[in-house]
Amino acid sequence: MQRSITLLGSTGSIGTQTLDVCRAQDFPVAGLAAHSNEALLEAQAREFSPRQVCICREDLWKSMKTRLADTPVRVVCGMEGLCETAALPEAELLVNAVVGMVGLRPTLAAIEAGKDIALANKETLVTGGALVMRAAREKGVRILPVDSEHSAIFQCLQGYSGNRLNKILLTASGGPFFGKTRAELQNVTAEQALRHPNWSMGAKITVDSATLMNKGFECIEAVWLFDCAPEQVEVVVHRESIIHSMVEFADYAVIAQMGVPDMKIPIQYALTYPERKPCPTGRLDLFSVGQLTFARPDMETFPCLKTALEAIRMGGLYPTLVNSANEELVALFLQGKIPFLQIGDTVSQMLSLPVSGALTLDSILEAERQAREAVHAICGV
Ligand code: NDP
Ligand code: MG
Repeated sequence: MQRSITLLGSTGSIGTQTLDVCRAQDFPVAGLAAHSNEALLEAQAREFSPRQVCICREDLWKSMKTRLADTPVRVVCGMEGLCETAALPEAELLVNAVVGMVGLRPTLAAIEAGKDIALANKETLVTGGALVMRAAREKGVRILPVDSEHSAIFQCLQGYSGNRLNKILLTASGGPFFGKTRAELQNVTAEQALRHPNWSMGAKITVDSATLMNKGFECIEAVWLFDCAPEQVEVVVHRESIIHSMVEFADYAVIAQMGVPDMKIPIQYALTYPERKPCPTGRLDLFSVGQLTFARPDMETFPCLKTALEAIRMGGLYPTLVNSANEELVALFLQGKIPFLQIGDTVSQMLSLPVSGALTLDSILEAERQAREAVHAICGV
């Protein structure tokens, strides 16, 4: 019997690919959630017959209910509905693929309800890593990484428990602007930033890949998932995106995980773990890849990476300030209201905001508010 899942962010890039895997592997789906894409959510509900769907935008609840009136599917909305869907009793595993730190509360709700978590939503760990990992330990649930780099590290670590890990070599494609100077980045448009060389992803993470903020967040994600120090995570630019990350052990043996750049492989591994099954994707042909290259990241041209690393070293609420400011700045950039370089320049200013006190859900949400407000004050929009 397959374990049934609940999928948050079902209409997005990771969400639709998760459903491709569910279709291929006959996984039962107990719950689905999206923000505003009613038509696709309706089609998914009709195909997968979940017990419940959540449309996060409360103003769309009535029309979503009307769309599914001839089905037994229950329709809920808002943050309360999202958390309730995350904790549905029928599901054994939550796949969290919403974008942004809005994913934190449903992750905590699912852990509280004893579900394993397949986590794509990295903002959950960037902002609430300490809370999430502690709650998962207390409840004895697994956090299974979906992000390709973290899935790779997780795969490299299978069977090595107790052995000393020297460091994690986290690979980065470098994004669409690799090799560019600051002057060349002055006038880049959202359209250019959205053209990623190797991966097809949602808009926010694609911009984060162009600024290298995504890689900074992935370093923070690795610190929480693999319980290591920030200094143990090294970013390696690898343009081909064939090696998805590596680990180096005490004896300097380095283990790498490779494959075609297709998120269905890490998604499926999180769903079928520890089993492996044929995946609905292409196979790696090393002869057509030819060669693999490696380079150091340029932290001066891409200050977001440096800022994220500094934030995790400072700890506490600093990663939340950086994450929330970044969410706000990326939205402004996509709306054409600020230039590309303003993202990195403004995000670094979050490190000098005064925040202190215990890390709790409330203090995280308060830091989020503070960062979003600071961004608007700095950018004057
Ligand atoms: P998309 O933008 O493609 O999809 C986002 C999903 O979240 C959609 O279903 C969207 O609903 C929903 N959503 C958006 N805003 C909210 C909100 N406020 N409340 C609830 N749901 C919301 O993003 P991706 O699939 O690319 O990324 C999802 C997560 O996975 C991100 O955290 C990203 O960093 C991570 N990730 C993504 C990878 C990828 O290849 N795409 C790779 C590794 C990690 P709607 O469609 O209705 O707006
Ligand atoms: Mg990644």
